[in-house]
Amino acid sequence: MLPRVFQPGAIGRMRLPNRIVMGSMHLNLETCDDGGAAVAAFYAERARGGAGLIVTGGCAVNRQGSGGRGYVVLSDRARHDALARWADAVHAEGGRIALQLFHAGRLTSSRYTGLPPLGPSTVASRMFPDEPPVAMTAGQIEDTIADFARAAVLAGELGFDAVEVMGSEGYLVNQFGSPLTNTRTDEWGGDARRRNRFAVAVVSAIRDSAPALPVLFRMSGDDLMPGSSTVDEQRALAVELALAGVHALNVGVGWHESRIPTVQSLVPPGAWSHYSAGVKLALAAERLTVPVITANRFTRLAQAEQALADGQADFVSMARPLLADPAIVTKTRTGAPVNICIACNEACIDRSLGEEPVSCVVNPRAGRELVFSQVRVRKARQYAVIGGGPAGMEAARALRSLGHRVELFEASGELGGQFRLARLVPGKADFGATIGYFTDELARLGVRVRLATPITADNLELIGQADGVVLATGVTPRELDLPGADLPHVVHYQRAFLEPESLGRRVVIIGGGGIAVDLAHLLGHGPSPLDARTRFLAEHGLAEGPPPVPSPRSLTILRRRGRIGAGMGRSTRWAAVDALRRQGTALLTGVQYEAITPDGVHITDETGTPRTIPADSVVVAIGQEPRTDLLPLLARTGVPLQVIGGSSGATGLNATRAFEEGLRAAYTL
Ligand code: SF4
Repeated sequence: MLPRVFQPGAIGRMRLPNRIVMGSMHLNLETCDDGGAAVAAFYAERARGGAGLIVTGGCAVNRQGSGGRGYVVLSDRARHDALARWADAVHAEGGRIALQLFHAGRLTSSRYTGLPPLGPSTVASRMFPDEPPVAMTAGQIEDTIADFARAAVLAGELGFDAVEVMGSEGYLVNQFGSPLTNTRTDEWGGDARRRNRFAVAVVSAIRDSAPALPVLFRMSGDDLMPGSSTVDEQRALAVELALAGVHALNVGVGWHESRIPTVQSLVPPGAWSHYSAGVKLALAAERLTVPVITANRFTRLAQAEQALADGQADFVSMARPLLADPAIVTKTRTGAPVNICIACNEACIDRSLGEEPVSCVVNPRAGRELVFSQVRVRKARQYAVIGGGPAGMEAARALRSLGHRVELFEASGELGGQFRLARLVPGKADFGATIGYFTDELARLGVRVRLATPITADNLELIGQADGVVLATGVTPRELDLPGADLPHVVHYQRAFLEPESLGRRVVIIGGGGIAVDLAHLLGHGPSPLDARTRFLAEHGLAEGPPPVPSPRSLTILRRRGRIGAGMGRSTRWAAVDALRRQGTALLTGVQYEAITPDGVHITDETGTPRTIPADSVVVAIGQEPRTDLLPLLARTGVPLQVIGGSSGATGLNATRAFEEGLRAAYTL
């Protein structure tokens, strides 16, 4: 099974057991005051799970290059023992680990570093518009190159098997390569070859200082920034780096400032592997045999196998999938259920952009391996979980994993709760994979799942023997209090998701949160003769294709206060709202709802003007209420009770909270 993925490979002197590289992820745990224990445990679990090579989160080669308060600065000696602990922990599991050498350049702030940001030229970033970088002097450039080299030597001394130079995503090395951020006229700027001189000099300096150490270079296949380096220029850089002695090229795509989504759920899996394929071709044309790693939007090892079979890469980098399931490699090999990354970004990328520790929505243990250790309890108890949505599924899984006996009661005929709606949204089919995983995993663990079994006063004896009960019955849609809300063409969002064909051509959605955005995607996604990947690339001007197919419906989202999609994650909201605009959905905020009539929805718009938005169907998506009707009944039983997920409160409810409360319940009952 998957012969190419499981074929051993090599990067420099490093022998790797398979072709899966865990890509670099900043965890916001790196500078915890724990001697490196949390990060070591995180990496160790992924090494145990079969990752061929683990690349650490970026570690700054000097203080000025730090990307935030939670970044390790390699020149800080106080961190060295913790770093060595990371490497030791991976080696103890038989794994290999590369230290990523990082310099943020202009993508940082003096607020974090206490020093002005540096860059090739004085060009401010979209993230820090008020703090343009100081253009580096020739001396600062030489010093920074030397810092990379020193950091590589240090990495070898601390026990790391390799280093990776962060040269993509718009950080310093990438900034030197781009005409957008490098307007220098000295020997470090000018044409592509001169702009790329910095990247080549960094690699050469590392090779000179640590000749035996394998060096990976994370390069940009395409910056996805108008006016930046061309794809041909990036391929030429790959050739130069290979000639400079780099041992592997890890091909990423897109800057953090790009307006083209690269890792969101609406990006089809494998969307970017043509860039690594292009790098391979460029190397082959020069008879260079440096291994190429492809990256971004691989969620399953079968997709990795396909990329390898197609000759698009020699290794495949997967980052978030190893957050979602640290053992994805060994589980795929043995056929065990795999918890698939759903590309929601809620608990990983969105947190890494701030200072909250990174975790994973569908695997809330991620990053907390020491807090939620998997030691089995001495005395097994009997627990009943009522409700099979995200919170209930995770509670049942975690309780059983700890060794308890668990029975899960779900009123409907299928697990999944709100994920059963989300999986219908274009790009979100993997939310269904989460349901599949928990269905299989609960069965594998021996949880007794009783579907179509609502708990009521009449069958309360079903939970009578339990030592504890977890109530996770979720939410119900909030009712709209408006004249006309009871008309037959007004429906709740749940019905709109499940029966979109029952809606008319002109649809008005009242309420503009994440559910409304998802629903508008579902209703407005027109058919296309193109496959999903080509369609996505064509929509963003990256492939030839016919003009976009008009949306089959006229859609309007109305919101009283706040932005459309408020509450969605920082890295996903903009991409989702952009997609709605592209499909022609009207987005009206600051409106007052007046009434619903058979003609449509009457509002006062943000200018105070009365308007009628014509509608054949009106969908209410104004939030949810906790479903707690069982509480009094359960309280009378006297059995210890935990209320989690939506039933514990709908305010601020999202999948992150639901899964996390499920996990916590198992450890606190
Ligand atoms: Fe994937 Fe979401 Fe988990 Fe991040 S939080 S690893 S995107 S499932």
